Amino acid sequence: MSELSFDCVVVGAGIVGVCCARQLAETGLSVVVLERNAKAGMETSSRNSGVIHAGLYYPPGSLKASSCVDGRERLYQRCLQLGIPHRAIGKLLVASDASELPKLEALHGRAIENGVASVRWLERREITALAPGVKAYAALWSPRSGIVDAHALVDAHRRLAIDHDVVFCFRSAVTALDARGGGWSVAFVDADGTGYRVRTRAVVNAAGLHATELCTLAGVDTGRAGLQTHYCKGDYFAVSSNRGALEHLVYPMPTDAGLGVHLTLNLAGEVYAGPDTEYVERLHYDVDARKADLFCRAVSRYYPGLTPDDFRPAYAGIRPKLQGPSQPFRDFVVDDMRDRGAPGFIAMVGIESPGLTAAEALALRVLQLVNTAIDG
Ligand SMILES: Cc1cc2nc3c(=O)[nH]c(=O)nc-3n(C[C@H](O)[C@H](O)[C@H](O)COP(=O)(O)OP(=O)(O)OC[C@H]3O[C@@H](n4cnc5c(N)ncnc54)[C@H](O)[C@@H]3O)c2cc1C
Repeated sequence: MSELSFDCVVVGAGIVGVCCARQLAETGLSVVVLERNAKAGMETSSRNSGVIHAGLYYPPGSLKASSCVDGRERLYQRCLQLGIPHRAIGKLLVASDASELPKLEALHGRAIENGVASVRWLERREITALAPGVKAYAALWSPRSGIVDAHALVDAHRRLAIDHDVVFCFRSAVTALDARGGGWSVAFVDADGTGYRVRTRAVVNAAGLHATELCTLAGVDTGRAGLQTHYCKGDYFAVSSNRGALEHLVYPMPTDAGLGVHLTLNLAGEVYAGPDTEYVERLHYDVDARKADLFCRAVSRYYPGLTPDDFRPAYAGIRPKLQGPSQPFRDFVVDDMRDRGAPGFIAMVGIESPGLTAAEALALRVLQLVNTAIDG
């Protein structure tokens, strides 16, 4: 049977995959998205803080920094253009005692280097006015940090992609990738186990937690390429308290693997604490209610007066990290695997935070790589 042919196959319909598909199709390329779940955005893209990051944390010059800063403004514009629910509520970044001040000062310097000029120090009376109840030795204010409805965002890009003739195949799990005649033959199975194949000139691997497996299917030696994914789980607890409404995000100092257990709001005004960082071997989303004590202690450092009873297990997400436990910073990898023996296979690996914010900027980089792959 002859295989259907597309300029580009995108594997995965999380925020990154749908953004890439839309971006590629807007330039006239034919695109099919293969997604093993029944809907778009069912994995990490709907298991996060829903925060639009300003771009304070990431080392200057890294892809995380540049794609976050660029992607953030594109994201705000997209929300305004399409009516996607969001709010630029701003964030306080808090040093809770003197020992944390050098870290906060370093973050301020980094923010400036990353071009996030809107970040500024808060006076004590401003801290009290913006976030009554927050205990801070010093605090930075980031007005361009915000929140977005991640489901609505994924859906908006999906609909735009469909307007540009992108074909979405759900319940379609990619099982093999074979280099053929300067392109790729992509095998996938549907929910009944029936197998199909499509031909393409370029494959975009936007498989999130499974991106490393896809690289292996494409023949990339992921060990040698340093593309092992470590799963780092983050739990969230809903916070109920009669302490008065929070109106802004409140973040402590970041840890090695995460941004610290922060207080975040959703668009309904509900307050969540999380995510913590726990490297796990197995993908699962259970939240251990016994962690309420730990969460209460972490939050109480900068928002005192809560008790463990104020914390109710809510949900969890898992970061696909290239950085293993106790290892140094690793950047996003978004590259053609040409030098790894897989030309035209665009790998996106380690797309953890700030991937939701950065998705549109990452999609522009993918467009360049796909064009080069197809033209070259
Ligand atoms: C706890 C936590 C908090 C976070 N908070 C934020 C935040 O506040 N702000 C922010 O900007 N970012 C945040 N992030 C990061 C952000 O959520 C991710 O970077 C982003 O959602 C990644 O999107 P994705 O499309 O790459 O992955 P996913 O959403 O996981 O999508 C990948 C898709 O690929 C599909 N797939 C996998 N394998 C196959 C296959 N073989 N065949 C077909 N389909 C396949 C999966 O089913 C899935 O739908 C957070 C992440 C976590 C875990």
